[in-house]
Amino acid sequence: MSRTDLENATERKAFSARRRMDVGVLGATGMVGQQFICQLAAHPWFRPAWLAASERSEGRAYRDAASWRLPEDPPAEIADVTVEGCVPGRGPRLIFSALDANAAKDIEPAFAKAGHIVITNARSFRMDPSVPLLISEINGEHLALMPRQRKDHAWPGAIVTNPNCSTIALTMVLAPLRQFGLRAVNVTTLQAVSGAGYPGVPSMDIIGNVVPFISGEEEKMQSETQKILGSFEADAVTPHPVVVSAHTTRVPVIDGHTLMASIKLDQGPSLEDVRERLSTWRGRPQELGLPSAPPAPVVCLDQPDRPQPRRDALRDGGMAVSVGRIRPCPVLGVKLAALGHNTIRGAAGAAVLNAELMVADGWIDGD
Ligand code: NAP
Repeated sequence: MSRTDLENATERKAFSARRRMDVGVLGATGMVGQQFICQLAAHPWFRPAWLAASERSEGRAYRDAASWRLPEDPPAEIADVTVEGCVPGRGPRLIFSALDANAAKDIEPAFAKAGHIVITNARSFRMDPSVPLLISEINGEHLALMPRQRKDHAWPGAIVTNPNCSTIALTMVLAPLRQFGLRAVNVTTLQAVSGAGYPGVPSMDIIGNVVPFISGEEEKMQSETQKILGSFEADAVTPHPVVVSAHTTRVPVIDGHTLMASIKLDQGPSLEDVRERLSTWRGRPQELGLPSAPPAPVVCLDQPDRPQPRRDALRDGGMAVSVGRIRPCPVLGVKLAALGHNTIRGAAGAAVLNAELMVADGWIDGD
């Protein structure tokens, strides 16, 4: 452990010994909002103190406003909380957002303008050149965009974004492979229905069926991957040159997005090298021992029929990406299957981990 890590560890211990920091959730009633409630209810650093959603939910008890869809009941201390409207200035400084993108594009900047730090799952600001598109294990240094963002937008607060749910799983597989000369990727997704929110895809469309179109998803996987893997210099991110071709499909699975990817690596590593690199890769959340960090971001499985959503999506609390079937690809070199939990690693869990990293690195103070 370096001296800086030791200092950070001491600060984190001191932080967690203090009272939990109040946080708010925008869009608390939706699919991702419900995961936020679960991730935050017993969190050692954060306390969900303020919940907000649309006019439909405003003024109602959380238990009545949310169409609760998770296996465990909502935590008792949250169930009676009254849901408020998304009014900037009312909630705590740190706000998690699970808003629908159409609502997020106006509401999130209004919160940043009012001084809140908004950590969001919505797509609205992901590709803004002054907004970090963050995966804690990969590109924590992109948080240094925040001073530029405050200047560009004249916001005393900030917006920090999570990538698209499929992009998170894909990029967590690609990031460790950059050292082999990452050149091109062809990926097909099999995405769960919970990825479309609630009530989402009509049952008549998805039962016994596959829908080979998810609006805007392929474009997001192609552009967001380059930004996340990009290098940060001065006050800008230069996108990584990897070329991504994505096919995205919706399948009758409740939770867990599967990806089938073929990858071109210039140095042509052996399959053993690829497996070894993926299994041993660790990021700053693991080095720092952050509360939501999985022990390993990527877990490689050797069984020929894994990963499977039903058996592997909840690995390490839904925060690890499972990889299997690493094998030769006659077209691009290497191919594999990967799986990530879309509302945990692909949304709420990733956002909470991002907030933990921001606290540990001093981007959010603990007062
Ligand atoms: P959802 O189930 O449809 O929930 C949307 C939430 O936004 C609800 O709380 C809703 O409140 C609120 N909302 C909608 N319009 C609003 C308005 N005009 N003003 C205030 N609040 C409003 O969607 P979701 O699946 O949780 O997704 C939330 C966000 O995360 C989206 O931007 C989505 O793209 C992104 N995301 C989703 C996933 C996933 O796997 N589902 C993964 C990654 C990212 P009411 O209940 O009061 O209507």
